[in-house]
Amino acid sequence: MLIEVKNLKTHFFTEEGVVRAVDGISFSLDRGEVLGIVGESGSGKSVTSLSLLRLIPDPPGRIVGGQILLESEGGVVEDLVEASEARMERVRGDRIAMIFQDPMTSLNPYLRVSEQLIEVLELHRGMGRAEARRRSVEMLQAVGIPAAASRIDDYPHQLSGGMRQRVMIAMALLCDPDLLIADEPTTALDVTIQAQILDLIAERKEALGAAVLLITHDLGVVAKMADRVAVMYAGRIVEEGPVGAIFHAARHPYTIGLSRSIPRLDDARGADLVPIPGMPPSLARLPPGCPFHPRCAHAIAACREEAPPPRVVSGEGNRKALHVVRCHVEDVAGRAP
Ligand code: SF4
Repeated sequence: MLIEVKNLKTHFFTEEGVVRAVDGISFSLDRGEVLGIVGESGSGKSVTSLSLLRLIPDPPGRIVGGQILLESEGGVVEDLVEASEARMERVRGDRIAMIFQDPMTSLNPYLRVSEQLIEVLELHRGMGRAEARRRSVEMLQAVGIPAAASRIDDYPHQLSGGMRQRVMIAMALLCDPDLLIADEPTTALDVTIQAQILDLIAERKEALGAAVLLITHDLGVVAKMADRVAVMYAGRIVEEGPVGAIFHAARHPYTIGLSRSIPRLDDARGADLVPIPGMPPSLARLPPGCPFHPRCAHAIAACREEAPPPRVVSGEGNRKALHVVRCHVEDVAGRAP
């Protein structure tokens, strides 16, 4: 196992009260595996990825419980929740790298691309300047930047949006990370560039044997890329399973609602989309019981009182095939509506 997240809780302490942005989630990832995390905005997806890198702004946020267990090549396991800041600076980039939705989150507009890439290799790999520059050009070529040997000296604003995204991916991949976190990596891009960037992430994943945590609200992207899918609602994982099970045999009313409500790149349902009624709850004032109950057409009395425990639907004993749902009602698909 490359990374195992156990009962992770990240809360924000605000004037409105305690915002339970991530409230006890668990998942794991092997090398070469892609886990998609899906959910509406505010479901805790991005706070999850920032927690793994320990980039939660403190105050007001803090990891208040759980473990993030990362295994090294030698089989040694370390808990990133307990790691020092100096250790995390090495882990970021060396072991875990992140691709953000907005490339300018990780690119400095005032520095040439070459300076930014070379600095990463000098810092994390102890390379000399000439070698670092050579390696940076190779990586820009690998991510499809034409005339990389000269474009490397451009400033970010001299590149198109798609090119900037590629540069950011190159930067994330420079040190051959074991885990690549891609947070809405293609949302801001047009459809053709989106497909190219996803192919690029898949291709680099194969080449490096890296695991990928893909965070998105786009189910089409997940269908194309992921091996397993975790569906988040109100800071919790409400359903998790192999991509085929989540798309074709979803058991949680929220997952079913999500797949009916979101337009996808890979289909043309257009007018058939059905929005989920109501709004996600305030994470500072979660309703008792199942947090989805105010929006759920299948709710029964127990849903308003008790949080549903995880229930194995299929794949018991085989982590990669395991399909787990948190819902009191067993046969949602067989019930109206
Ligand atoms: Fe709906 Fe109840 Fe299942 Fe929650 S536990 S999703 S309210 S049926």
